[in-house]
Amino acid sequence: MKSLIVLWILIPSVLSTLPGLSGSVPTLKRPVPLGVHAPGVNGGPVQKSPVEVYLDEFGYTASSNELEPPTPFDLQMGLLRFQMYHGLYRSGLFDVETEEKMALHRCENEDLQNGATLKAKMLLHPRFRKWRLRLNRKFMKKLGLELDTNRLWKKKSLQWSIQGTPNSLTQKETREALVDAISRWENIGGFRFFETDSPNSADILFSFEQMSDKKHPTVVSRASGPNQSRVVFDKFQPWSHVIQYPGSLSLHRAALHSIGHSLGLQHTPEIDSLMNPLFKSAQLFSKITAIPNEDDKTLRELYAIPAPTVTQSSGETLKCPKHLDSVTAVSENLWFFFRKYNVWSVKNRKFQGEHRRIKEVFPDGPDFVNATVTSNGLTVLFAERTIYGYQYDAGRFVKAEGFPRELHERVLFFPQAAFPLTNGSIVLLSGNVFATYDVLANMPHILNDKNRMFPNLPFDVRSGIPVHTQDYSRYYMFDETTVSEWQSASHEATPAKPITDFFICST
Ligand SMILES: [Zn+2]
Repeated sequence: MKSLIVLWILIPSVLSTLPGLSGSVPTLKRPVPLGVHAPGVNGGPVQKSPVEVYLDEFGYTASSNELEPPTPFDLQMGLLRFQMYHGLYRSGLFDVETEEKMALHRCENEDLQNGATLKAKMLLHPRFRKWRLRLNRKFMKKLGLELDTNRLWKKKSLQWSIQGTPNSLTQKETREALVDAISRWENIGGFRFFETDSPNSADILFSFEQMSDKKHPTVVSRASGPNQSRVVFDKFQPWSHVIQYPGSLSLHRAALHSIGHSLGLQHTPEIDSLMNPLFKSAQLFSKITAIPNEDDKTLRELYAIPAPTVTQSSGETLKCPKHLDSVTAVSENLWFFFRKYNVWSVKNRKFQGEHRRIKEVFPDGPDFVNATVTSNGLTVLFAERTIYGYQYDAGRFVKAEGFPRELHERVLFFPQAAFPLTNGSIVLLSGNVFATYDVLANMPHILNDKNRMFPNLPFDVRSGIPVHTQDYSRYYMFDETTVSEWQSASHEATPAKPITDFFICST
């Protein structure tokens, strides 16, 4: 812990000298922007470099004429937009981290539209973000924009069909992966799915093809939205069926993403969302079992479906949940456990009675949380980029003064996890980046690489709770289904065990 405190003193002064600080600082940087196009031969069209093609095809730069290659300025702006979208240090150069991200397998649909006119802040501000995603009908109306209803389904029962298999999987495995992915979307946004034998009448047709016309070598799938959705997977990609292994890509994961497009969703920079365009090796050896809250919410907004009044159970045991979105400790013995729209109180690790809606327990609170943390008597809930603050007093949560508020714009990511520090600050995390954050001052201190400062945290960490409230030397670190004990000084972690062995279900 001491070394961390020294770093807090040193790092901000170093970081403040860097322009455009965001996300983590790359370890290596190439001295010159690479990836510039080659001149045309004998006055012929220029050969765009793979980087130029990437930025152009996925919407990070405005599509340019083949004879007029992007200027160095366009290229730099495109790289900056890409780096912002993917939570990288914004160097504007084709640096090593950018190269690594661009090498990941991805969906062919574009990430941004008309890159050149997109202002950086549009990615940050919730209102602009919604506008970009073409979601918020009210806001669009204010701007005089019309929602293109041709891009929405007018029915709720959709028929689907599969054509072919990839070379790496049997017909049975292919079906299994797709059927499971479809079942996860069942009832989300009110949609129901039925298989049909006739591909011609399918609303959603999944097929496996040689994608010889694909925009970029990293592309492994593409999907069109309503109506008549066509999902194409690369037949020659070495797909694994449900579980993702190193060196392979899970068809189940790619299908979950593609069905999102089939229903009308577009790409988002949010790392927790299925609609992030990059199929990173995030969920190695594990399987996605539920549609993330973000995607559920986005789909509801798109179809103007109000938040559910009845609890969506999606197979979850409501008395004792087996998955967590977040957990926070208001005292050493009293914790609050969040999953979907619900919250449970937990005393000495034992679930206390029935769940309640988050909004019932936290006045004017969010529908769901991305992260929660309690520090210095203040319990804060993060939902997207909004911070809700509460004091726990006489058995209930009371709104703290000055909340809700927006996350400071220097934090470019959407927090997916949080844990408290001894000095009253908190740590916010998302993917491989973190920020130390002073909630009361609403200011970040350090933004850096998670694995450098906090090695051995669970890959997809959700919450960290000090083992003893007066001593922050050890934390329980939770991901969605497991818990391990983590030492803050040595960064050593115990093997993970299931949360079902950690929390007690009182029957
Ligand atoms: Zn996509």
